[in-house]
Amino acid sequence: MDFDIKNKTCSFCGVRGTDGAKFAGGLGAMMCVPCVGRFHDIFSTDAKTEAVSRPPWEAMSDAEVLGTLPLIARNAEQVNEFLTEWVELARSRKISWAEIGRVMGTSRQAAWERFAERVGKPRPQETASLPPSDVPRRVNVSSSPLGTSVNPGSATTTPSVAVI
Ligand SMILES: [Zn+2]
Repeated sequence: MDFDIKNKTCSFCGVRGTDGAKFAGGLGAMMCVPCVGRFHDIFSTDAKTEAVSRPPWEAMSDAEVLGTLPLIARNAEQVNEFLTEWVELARSRKISWAEIGRVMGTSRQAAWERFAERVGKPRPQETASLPPSDVPRRVNVSSSPLGTSVNPGSATTTPSVAVI
């Protein structure tokens, strides 16, 4: 499995991992330390939580909505890579395609068709998902349904957060 933080992206703000950075991770989602702190602060009082309990897209411009799309796509790729890595782990433990299909709620054949070609193959780098010119720059966007804003391509995040 890929345990290199430089290949990971915070699922909440879109910042990419760098040497020395730390991410919390679970089920394919990753969270950088500033986001952990931001959400910890938001959930520290009911008033702070209530203050950001509106759908962030309601106040977003069209440019901000468009800027969010590649960040969501990058996060989806990360989660799909994580799922593939776990299927690869299961296969390395000699768990059958039938069992993998059963827990995924599908057939052995469907599980094999979805994952067999990718299992054991090199992973595409996350930067390959979009040409650099298509990655929005200098635009504050809401990077996730939870609405943490980010300036894509930099490590600077702007806390405008919403929680559900
Ligand atoms: Zn983050």
